[in-house]
Amino acid sequence: MIADIKRRAARIVELLKKAYPNSRCSLKFRSAHQFLVATILSAQTSDEAVNNVTPGLFARYRSVEDFAAADISRLEREIASLGLFRTKAKAIKQSAIELLNRYGGIVPDGLDEIITLPGVGRKTGSVVLGTWFGKAEGIVVDTHVIRISRLLGLAAHTDADKIEQDLMAIIPRKDWIILTHLMIDHGRAVCIARRPKCEICVLGAQCPSGSET
Ligand code: SF4
Repeated sequence: MIADIKRRAARIVELLKKAYPNSRCSLKFRSAHQFLVATILSAQTSDEAVNNVTPGLFARYRSVEDFAAADISRLEREIASLGLFRTKAKAIKQSAIELLNRYGGIVPDGLDEIITLPGVGRKTGSVVLGTWFGKAEGIVVDTHVIRISRLLGLAAHTDADKIEQDLMAIIPRKDWIILTHLMIDHGRAVCIARRPKCEICVLGAQCPSGSET
């Protein structure tokens, strides 16, 4: 049974890789710290909205020191279009202060360390470790991954942490990072919430939900 689902999961990853050969994180950044800031900003916000804000932000705050010294009210105004801006501004400033105090201004490349930064949970930490450092410490589960994993019958749960465990049990570690990007691409292009285009989906033969949608 588990062997069957692992085989099907492998086929799904293979098909998605063929369909989205350039799949990668769509946030724009030029350093580990910029990526950390962009990832904090992306909570419950589209990558596109974050990308509209970060070029100006990174031009005004050019270093970890600049973010640590930021006037919090001004930073809030600068990211206000993204929602949850007070929480995000606080996380960005405080994490920069902690980076300077404890890590010499360098973003750490271990999950145990990175999640000690203010405002950086396991999900944000895994995103940074996976995309910037190429370290697969887990599978990043966003709304696309939740929806598509369940439609494909790869996960039975609704809770993101449990879905991550379901996926980690059947997907080889080498594909943990790319899986998230592939499912996000597929969720944007084909398996769109509420109107999936099953008739053109490359996963049609692998998907138990295809004929029902
Ligand atoms: S067949 Fe339909 S429901 Fe299944 S993954 Fe493709 S688009 Fe989504």
